[in-house]
Parts: sequence; structure tokens; C-alpha cells
Amino acid sequence: MFNKAINQYLNKHHYKSISLQSVLFDMDGVLFNSMPYHADAWYKAMNTRGLNMTKEEAYLHEGRTGSGTINIVYQRQWNRQATKEEIEAIYNEKTIEFNKHPLAKAMPGAWEILCKVKKANMTPTVVTGSGQSSLLNRLEENFPGMFRPELMVTAFDVKFGKPHPEPYLMALEKGKLQKNEAIVIENAPLGVEAGVAAGIFTIAVNTGPLDPQVLLNSGANLLFPSIQDLCNAWDELITAFKATPKI
Ligand code: CA
Repeated sequence: MFNKAINQYLNKHHYKSISLQSVLFDMDGVLFNSMPYHADAWYKAMNTRGLNMTKEEAYLHEGRTGSGTINIVYQRQWNRQATKEEIEAIYNEKTIEFNKHPLAKAMPGAWEILCKVKKANMTPTVVTGSGQSSLLNRLEENFPGMFRPELMVTAFDVKFGKPHPEPYLMALEKGKLQKNEAIVIENAPLGVEAGVAAGIFTIAVNTGPLDPQVLLNSGANLLFPSIQDLCNAWDELITAFKATPKI
């Protein structure tokens, strides 16, 4: 079932196999079910200022910098860039709204899939554009012993951020990995683009309200409707990777 997608990847990149050593997990919307809170916070921060942005649109922009997102909306609605002060005010408001929500829970299936990764002697790593200390600290709390901080890539490490391939290339470097020794798990179009641009086999999980086609259009090699579904298919997927399909 997965052989076609794996073969397409191998042909495109001229690899003979994917020799899986590490799984690179995005954080928001993959490990934590935090995206509904982010989308709600964006919606409120924008709409109190008369800026039109739906919650669904927030999912499309997920991973973009705050100023990048704000400028897209300003340009569309008022045909100009936002000023530095406007950006600061809106982003502050967004942060206040986000913090009104309770702490985001672990995504259903996340712990289970991490256990499967560890059991197979692979290294799970987090690659996130987030610099929120509350979430980073909570990784250890929610997923004890799963992640090695020195291998993680966060907002503090990167210059460009997703959809630039830099965060995933940095994760390969930190883990001393080749591109065909890891896979990426992402939920957002820009995150998928980053994984694909880094040349890594990228699996999209559609944990939000997006049309699944959006994630395929971003270049995802495989698509699952949830982390739990990916988890349920995990053994079959690993078997397909190990089968080393012919080019
Ligand atoms: Ca995400």
C-alpha cells in the first residue's frame, strides 16, 4: 500500500532505500493538540481589530512568523504592510488570547507512536517553529524520556523557519543523519513544504480542518487523517521501508 509513495520518493532523490534511523516530529498539531487554541487566538486578535481571518485560515498559515501572517491579512484587506507597532499589538493580543486557554493536551496516539519508534531503536526528535517555553518544558512532562534536548530544533535554533528547509536540515545535522535516514511528520502545509524542501520523506497528518488536498499539494509523500491512524499503520509502514523497493 505504501510502496508506491516510497518508490516515488526514491526515484525522485536517486536513493536505493530509506534506512530509517530517526523520526522528526513537528510539535503543534502533531504531538500536542494545540492548534485549535492558536487558531482561536488568531481569530480573536484579528477580528477585534476589524481584520478578516477565519479560524481555518489560521491553519493554512501555521508555522509562518507572526509578522508574516499579519502582513498577508493587511495586504489583502488594506493593501499595505502592517507597521511594527500594529504587528506588536496584534501579536501581543494573540498571545494573551492563547494563554487564556488551558494547556494543550497530548495528541491522541502520540505517546503510542513514540513508544513504537523507540522500541524499533529509532530516535524521535522534535522540530518546531515554536519558542514557547511552556510547550517546550511540557514535552518532558508529557513524553518523559522520549526526546534528547541536544537533538531538538526550536525557534531558538533557526534563522528562517518553515517553509524554509533549514529546521529539518538542522535536525539532520544535529542527528548526524542523511536525508534518507529520517522521516518527517507534519500537520501544516508550510511544515510539509519544509520537510519536502529538505529532501526528507514527509508524512502529513491532517489533524485540523483543512482540505486534505492542501497537504498533498504541499508535496506530502503520504497522508493520514490523524496521528492515531498513522500509529495504527506504523508496523506496515516500517515493513514497507525495510522492503527497500527497487528503483
Ligand atoms: Ca504543526
